[in-house]
Amino acid sequence: MAETTELLTFLGEAVTPFHAVEAMTRRLKTAGFEEVEQFDAVQMAPGQGYFTVRQGSSLIAMRAGDAELGAGLRLVGTHTDSPNLSVKPNPVKGRDGCVQLGVDVYGGALLNPWFDRDLGVAGRVALLSTDGELESVLFDSKRPVAVVPSLAIHLDREANTQRSVNAHKDVVPLAMLGEAQQFDFRQWLAEALAKDDPRWQGARVMDYELSLYDTQRPGLVGIEEDFITSARLDNLLSCYAAVTALINADDSHWSVLVATDHEEVGSASTVGAQGPMLMDALTAIAPNVADNQKLRARSWMLSVDNAHAVHPNYADRHDEQHNPKLGAGPVIKINRNQRYATNSEGAARLRLIAERAGVNVQSFVMRSDLACGSTIGPITATETGIATTDIGVPTLAMHSVRELACAADVPQIVSLLEAFYRRLA
Ligand SMILES: [Zn+2]
Repeated sequence: MAETTELLTFLGEAVTPFHAVEAMTRRLKTAGFEEVEQFDAVQMAPGQGYFTVRQGSSLIAMRAGDAELGAGLRLVGTHTDSPNLSVKPNPVKGRDGCVQLGVDVYGGALLNPWFDRDLGVAGRVALLSTDGELESVLFDSKRPVAVVPSLAIHLDREANTQRSVNAHKDVVPLAMLGEAQQFDFRQWLAEALAKDDPRWQGARVMDYELSLYDTQRPGLVGIEEDFITSARLDNLLSCYAAVTALINADDSHWSVLVATDHEEVGSASTVGAQGPMLMDALTAIAPNVADNQKLRARSWMLSVDNAHAVHPNYADRHDEQHNPKLGAGPVIKINRNQRYATNSEGAARLRLIAERAGVNVQSFVMRSDLACGSTIGPITATETGIATTDIGVPTLAMHSVRELACAADVPQIVSLLEAFYRRLA
């Protein structure tokens, strides 16, 4: 139960990838992990933890093992981003007495659930300080500042059968009453930042990466509080589980956590899973080419990203033999067309670890007539040649602004990742 409460706190803090990395690094630092610009295996003491952050939204953390590095790494991969509404550079528009904010859709968001939500705005802002220095700072309005009201059913009688959403026209949040030309969004942002921190008094907003988020707190739902409802369960639930497991890991293996941004838009970026971040870290700890190849050949990665639980109202969307249930444990994701990287050896090793750790695991393959989504697993495997197994916690409403997972699955995934980092198999 403590883990679920901690997870809810983490989800509430991690409103954007930048805040997710900050929330993870805060936990790592508290656990004694040391921030480094680059890893250096010679300097790393067995059992000691280290981490590095790239561009504020991706991180790699590593705990040195007592065995020699050539024995291989145990890696867990997750992603820090989730679909959202991203605030445009010149967002202010308006009509009929309302000031509105223009937004872009980031990733494969399910748009309908964004209507009628109390939305906050958060992210990273590039400020020019009064000293003439450019500074990147995190911002969180911490209160609802926008809302996308639905069109009343009286004005669209087919709303329940025919309504579709046009991202440009329909999803334009209302921010205030007034005239658009009288509202300066950047000025408002600068003043809000200065109010939070007097150091930014007089600073000018040069640019930003801001997105809207649902201000309703993550919570437990159900007569027996079986369900967790929250934004960003995909993939912050995995980030939380991975960081917790790494903090609880010992020096059985060289243990690594790679949490990258931009998975929801394909991972091809400087700090995405397809970028050089992980290979750079592996090169730093094993600079010799032959040693590096050996290290990667002997390493094993779990790519942890949420799995589709079977939805009781749409059970036919799953193969009846592979329909992961909520609360029945982590899911091994298999796709022979390599949309998931899992092979039989990895799945077998993981089943054995799960058995020894007392964790139940389930299997997922997509219906044969539906296209399968993908994740960071095959991308990282392709980039590094590291054997990778795709797993995840069963989830409903994936990519909604409020997703659903099961409280009972949280300690299960944490235990599984802890066992993976320890000498159980
Ligand atoms: Zn995901």
